[in-house]
Order: sequence, then structure tokens, then C-alpha cells
Amino acid sequence: MEFLPLFFDLKGRTVLIVGGGDVALRKARLLRSAGAVLHVISSEIKQELQELATLNQGKATQGNYDSLELSDFTLVVAATNDIAVNQQVSHDAKLANIPVNVVDHPELCSFIFPAIVDRSPIIAAVSSGGSSPVLARILRAKLETVLPATYGRLATLAEKYRNQVKAHFTQINQRRGFWEKVLQGPVSELMFAGKEHEAEALLKSELESGTEVKRELGEVYLVGAGPGDPDLLTFKSLRLMQQADVVIYDRLVSKPILNLCRRDAEMVYVGKARSDHAVPQEGINQLLVKYAKKGHRVLRLKGGDPFIFGRGGEEIEELAENGVPFQVVPGITAAAGCSSYSGIPLTHRDYAQSVRFVTGHLKDNSANLPWSELVHPNQTIVFYMGLMGLPIICEQLIQHGMSGSTPIALVQKGTTPQQKVVIATLDTMVEVIKSNPVSAPTLIIVGQVVSLHDKLKWFNPDSKNLIP
Ligand code: SAH
Repeated sequence: MEFLPLFFDLKGRTVLIVGGGDVALRKARLLRSAGAVLHVISSEIKQELQELATLNQGKATQGNYDSLELSDFTLVVAATNDIAVNQQVSHDAKLANIPVNVVDHPELCSFIFPAIVDRSPIIAAVSSGGSSPVLARILRAKLETVLPATYGRLATLAEKYRNQVKAHFTQINQRRGFWEKVLQGPVSELMFAGKEHEAEALLKSELESGTEVKRELGEVYLVGAGPGDPDLLTFKSLRLMQQADVVIYDRLVSKPILNLCRRDAEMVYVGKARSDHAVPQEGINQLLVKYAKKGHRVLRLKGGDPFIFGRGGEEIEELAENGVPFQVVPGITAAAGCSSYSGIPLTHRDYAQSVRFVTGHLKDNSANLPWSELVHPNQTIVFYMGLMGLPIICEQLIQHGMSGSTPIALVQKGTTPQQKVVIATLDTMVEVIKSNPVSAPTLIIVGQVVSLHDKLKWFNPDSKNLIP
């Protein structure tokens, strides 16, 4: 090991920073956040750094570093762009046995700053031993994604009960077992779901009963999986996907996303192709209740956002009626995904000041939408489930006063490698797709904003085919 990671208590300790620019400022902020008192020396000191340094009995001295008496300092940091000064600081500090860091010069350091993930009081630190700070930062970013933001609060809760638990379990093994259950089980899940009071109550009852309180009931996570690209999942959805015992999904959820679910989870397909409902909606609602009542953590994974044309509301109504706990995690809805990935902004100062999401699923193929409300200047209309009804949609919009030359886009399988965008007008689209067919799922966008596609398109999944 090149460096031994240690965590330093700097509260009220004085740290010398030699340097007055941006690099020094960054280090000063970090040291202040750990409660250090700063002493900054430099011929020039940025205003912001000067202010920061003089807080809490710190000071900023304008002038050159000239081999100071260093014994009053707990740490020394050199952050100047003058290598001779940096070397001198390093030399003096080492001679005085004070730990020293010279920013970006590991060979002059006796300690280095790691990249940090701060979930105080939990801190994760990553170091490459100075060999590649960029790599350490990339690794840190990966850690950021897997540590829920509320991790620190979980640690604070554990700290609050530490002594009680110690008094309750005299054996260290029992204590460890207790904490492992609490920190990986339902208490932590409640905490991550933002239900802190319930988490604490459960911890207390587990402590009082001395055993794990079995949760008779499981829980349902109603999660939006987004339009297809797995990179568009939220951190929260990914975490729940990786802990659910049962996954109930339908046709809109892409394969790469399903592959991210826990390997040994039970996968239940409930269909939902337009007219081929493998399991009817009522059946799905009951299935969720059934699995949860067996004590499972059930992930109900839905395409896009669960509350936008997803019937997610009905599913949790049934859960609420049956007293089954649930959480809802939003996802990127098809309109947002398709709009971004096709370069068609849904609103734009010059073209559209409002946008409407409409179902194009026309009951009994009749034209039963409030057409005249939809025909509005400066408004974009997005039709979900509208492919079958496309001829009626174009015809009715024109009949209700929209110009036949209004641009319309069909976005097939938006955000996926099979994305295809077809642009035409209300007059011509039906004819155009006869020779250039699109398949479900497809989103329809109508309005002047569609004309921006030509200029703003950037996602071109077929472009790889152009490379010989
Ligand atoms: N809850 C989903 C919508 C479900 S309705 C959401 O928020 O996105 C199903 C319709 O969504 C499809 O008929 C299609 O119009 C649209 N859709 C879903 N994913 C899509 C995708 N990747 N590309 C294009 N349209 C999509």
C-alpha cells in the first residue's frame, strides 16, 4: 500500500495553506467543512478565500512564504504554482514532522486528499495513490450512484441507538447480528423511502422484542422504467430493482432494463400488447396484492412513468384498499424520452407555449376525443397509443381547423437502438408510412416544433451501419 487511508479529526485545528488561487480555495473549502481553522499565506489571495480564511479565528496573510515556524499547524497544504515554493514547503513540513500535501505533486506529499463521497457521518474515500486522480474521481462517481442519499441518516439513527443496543445485547455476536438485520432489512428500506418515524419505530420494536419482527406483509414498488434506454433509469429505481424478490413487468419494459433486476428474482410477465393482454388489468392488481401478502418485496416495473397512461393509479388503489404498503418511483415518460432523443423540444419560445399529452387509444375506433380543444395555435400535442388511430387523428385535427401542412412526427421505440423518426404533415403521414412502416410502441408529436428535428437531431442509432 502506497498510502494508508486515515480519517482526520480537524475540528478546531489549524491548517496552513500556502497559495491564494482556485486550487487553494478548493482545499480551503474542504478543510473548513471538516471544521479546521485556516491560515492562508500568499502574495495574492482571492477575495473569496480571504473571507473563508478569516472565519472562525482563521487568518489570511498577504506575503511570500518564508520558512515559517510550522509546529503550530496540524497539517500543511501547498497549492501555489511556483514549484520552488511548493518544494520548500514540503521540505520544511517534513523536517518538522508535520503532514504535508502539495496539490498534484504526490512525490512531495506525506498525505494525499482522496476523492470523497459524503453521506455524513458515512464518508467513502477513494484514492489512486496520486497515480490517476481522474480515475479516482470516476470511481467516486460510481459510488455516488450506489449509495442512497439517505445513507447518512441511517447511520445517524444507528448512532442514536448504539448504547441501548449495547446494553441490550451483551454478546458482541448478537449485537452484530442485530445491526446487520436492521441495516439491511426493512428498517433501512423504510429509511430510504423517507419514512424515518416508521423506521425508528420498527427498530425500537425489534430491540424490545429482542428478535427480528417479521413483516407479515411485503411491499410493492411501483417503478417507472423509462422509455427504453437503461441509462435513463433513476438511482432509486435501480436500487429497488436490485432488491425486489418478484418482478412483475410488461411488454414495454426493454430487455436491457430487465437484465438489471436481481438475478434470482422471480420474473412474472403480464403482457400488455395492445389487444393481447396476457393478464387483464384486474388480474395484475390482484397479483400484486397476492405476492405482497406472502411477504415478498414486489417490483411492479412499468414503461415510462407509472402515472402517465400507465394505469399505475389503479394498481396502487387496490394496494391501498388491501392495506399493502407501497412506494412510487417516477420514470422518464415516452414524451420526454422521445422528444429529447429525436431533437424535438416539446415547447419552444417561437413555436409552442404549451404541450398536451393525449391518449390516442380511441375507444371502438370512434373519434371520441375533445378535438376542438386540441386544435390550438402554439400548442404541441403528444399522442400516446395513437398508431392504430393515426388516420382518424390526422383527419379529425384537419376537420377541426388545423392546417393540413402542420408537421407531425412518429417516433418508433424512442431512446432505443431501434429508434426511428418519420416526419411528414397531417395531409401526408398516412400515405408516407405505407411505404415506410413503423411499429409499436410509437409516439406521435404534432405541432410546429416538429420542424426543429432536422436541425436538432443528434441521436442516430443507425449511424453505426455507415461505418464500413
Ligand atoms: N407510462 C408510459 C406510457 C404507457 S402507454 C409512459 O409514461 O411512457 C404506451 C404508449 O407509450 C405507447 O403506445 C407509445 O405511444 C408510448 N411509448 C412508450 N414507450 C415508447 C417508446 N420507447 N417510444 C415511443 N413510444 C413509446
